[in-house]
Amino acid sequence: METKQPLKESSTNQVNETSDEDEWSLDNFEIGRPLGKGKFGNVYLAREIKSKFIIALKVLFKSQLQKCHMEHQLRREIEIQSHLRHPNVLRMYGYFYDETRIYLILEFAANGEMYKFLKRQPHGRFSEPQTANYMAQLADALMYCHAQKVIHRDIKPENLLLGIHGEIKIADFGWSVHAPSSRRTTMCGTLDYLAPEMVEGRSHDEHVDLWTLGILCYEFLVGSPPFEEEKQDLTYRRICKVDIRFPAHLSVGAKDLIAKLLRPKAEDRIPLKKLLEHPWIVMHLTEEVRSRLPSFQKVKSEKA
Ligand code: AMP
Repeated sequence: METKQPLKESSTNQVNETSDEDEWSLDNFEIGRPLGKGKFGNVYLAREIKSKFIIALKVLFKSQLQKCHMEHQLRREIEIQSHLRHPNVLRMYGYFYDETRIYLILEFAANGEMYKFLKRQPHGRFSEPQTANYMAQLADALMYCHAQKVIHRDIKPENLLLGIHGEIKIADFGWSVHAPSSRRTTMCGTLDYLAPEMVEGRSHDEHVDLWTLGILCYEFLVGSPPFEEEKQDLTYRRICKVDIRFPAHLSVGAKDLIAKLLRPKAEDRIPLKKLLEHPWIVMHLTEEVRSRLPSFQKVKSEKA
């Protein structure tokens, strides 16, 4: 159990900066409207009473987690997500529990689910400039995660939330792993988003996140993932062959980036740093998004 950490966005919101070793409990929060329902419980808007800091409180039922043997996965998710600090990674401020439930104190993503937002777009897809700006945010966040030796392994619209400025927040680290130097062979992730090395049960590393970024880029621009089929084995076969078909409306630049991410050999995929320099990204990246990306801020301060 972690000790109570201050909930903060800026110094003015800082609370509980005491040396006490107290743990969080439900008494610290006012509970507001439900934000959504998940497989293992509900998420509520909530406010920490002392600081008035708004958060999302995820309430998970121990009995349901035990039934599905998810305790280990949740422990890993908490361990990983609570240590990550990036504007495009959903913060986990802490957690606590009682007899029957586990409570996760999460950053509130004011603009909700990416999946629903995508479905609401005309033709269920985003424009190229919008997609390029999302890709840059994801590349920046994954570059940070990989530097911390964390592989997400399950990037897809369902696992992305949107912040107050419409910025991406990677959530759900349920399938992520800490990879000190090891390569894992666990089969996980959603079928449509599985990299060839995972489909074939080979070992994999952080390059799987580059593949899933390619799938996501395609889905954002087209409205459905590239290897979607009714029958699973057909999807598997198309993944292994990288049997990709581009609709006519995609630009040369967008197709070029997707093709550079969806390479069968993991080491051939375009690295995240190069993705941020890809002409299609550079031409669409807005000043507003660029100014929020930590890797660009670093470049700026190095030049100064
Ligand atoms: P989950 O159990 O993580 O699938 O969450 C269920 C639903 O609650 C999601 O689909 C979102 O609509 C909502 N939700 C979860 N976490 C947050 C958050 N941090 N901020 C805003 N809404 C959230």
